[in-house]
Amino acid sequence: MSRRISIFGATGSIGQNTLDLIKRAPDDYDVIALTGGHNIAQLAADALQVGAKLVVTAHDQHLPALRQALEGSGIEAAAGPTALCEAATRPADWVMSAIVGAAGLEPGVRALQQGATLALANKESMVCAGPLMLATARANGGTILPVDSEHSALFQALNGEPRDAVDKVIITASGGAFRDWPLADLAHATPEQAATHPNWSMGTRITIDSASMFNKALELIEAKELFGFDPDQIEACIHPESVVHAMVAFRDGGMIGHMGVPDMRHAIGYALHHPNRDPLPVKTLDLLSIGQLNFREVCPDRYPALRLARQVMEAGGLHGAVFNAAKEVALDAFLQKRIGFLDMAAVVERVLDRLSATNGLNHADIDLDTVLRADLAARDAAKDDIHQTSQK
Ligand code: NDP
Repeated sequence: MSRRISIFGATGSIGQNTLDLIKRAPDDYDVIALTGGHNIAQLAADALQVGAKLVVTAHDQHLPALRQALEGSGIEAAAGPTALCEAATRPADWVMSAIVGAAGLEPGVRALQQGATLALANKESMVCAGPLMLATARANGGTILPVDSEHSALFQALNGEPRDAVDKVIITASGGAFRDWPLADLAHATPEQAATHPNWSMGTRITIDSASMFNKALELIEAKELFGFDPDQIEACIHPESVVHAMVAFRDGGMIGHMGVPDMRHAIGYALHHPNRDPLPVKTLDLLSIGQLNFREVCPDRYPALRLARQVMEAGGLHGAVFNAAKEVALDAFLQKRIGFLDMAAVVERVLDRLSATNGLNHADIDLDTVLRADLAARDAAKDDIHQTSQK
């Protein structure tokens, strides 16, 4: 029997890699919904190829073009954030959460409410609302399977191991585009320079977040939320080759690391076939040709995002939602060349300080509305901060 699947963020880097796997075994899958944003041509072409039942663009203005591209196919088309969430309520067995940013949170929650298996690439969901995501999965018989390569690696290394035997977990970072730049030059780094990743091919936003280490900051928080370790048990190190994705150090002195070529189809395919481990079109790592693996400490002066992530992990509550939203706004401003590369962390820090002082972010029980309100408040505060700073 074919499995019912939906892909949120189908036109993006993770979405396209997911579709690559689906298209290789079309009889195994019944595609319920595909969603995208601006890339209507890709969205419609994929929907026609895989025979999706429903296609949604996040943007109302693209609905006529989407309808036109699907004309005569019988495929249902819809647009807007409400339609995205409705698509997530269509019964599916396996749902890929690969929208970028906090926009992925609500569709993910809705899918879990249906009891689906949620393949989670959208790390922002766990950062903004980890306890809510886990509670929603528990209450409805849903499952969250990590797709972020580091978290998939941890998930695989922790498989069957007693949790109290773990001393610490270490996720690796390539170091991004500016790994070897002198610190003094970072202030003048441009979006074009930041958008080049040394090892992985990913969407623009996550690539720039890799250069600033905001991506690693999000991943540290994601690891805490997903696996429930204490913040001081979770570390990051620079590993320029991006071959070892994560390591688990056990209290008996043993360490299990997960290795593989940098190809997201491994983590996506692992989540697709879990609990089986089916063959994937991913190259086997050739360690002999690589010869040498390097690991080094992350320099804290270079990456203030990681210091802020530590504060967020310790504080919990709504700090993650504020951290992520302020980061998204700061990244937009950097992409528009309104602020510099190093200003992004400064904006996020000021917004965190301001909202923790005025709004109280230490909620123990967070529901979706509370998280979405905190997200909005942080976006407003970040825009305000950027505006005021640019007036000086
Ligand atoms: P991309 O930018 O390549 O794709 C993002 C997808 O989300 C696209 O389908 C885009 O549509 C859609 N989208 C953008 N904004 C919105 C919105 N407001 N509402 C609804 N849909 C929207 O991102 P990636 O594939 O690189 O990343 C997706 C997620 O996976 C992120 O959370 C990222 O951190 C995570 N991730 C990515 C990895 C990677 O290798 N790329 C690795 C690990 C995690 P369109 O393009 O049509 O406008």
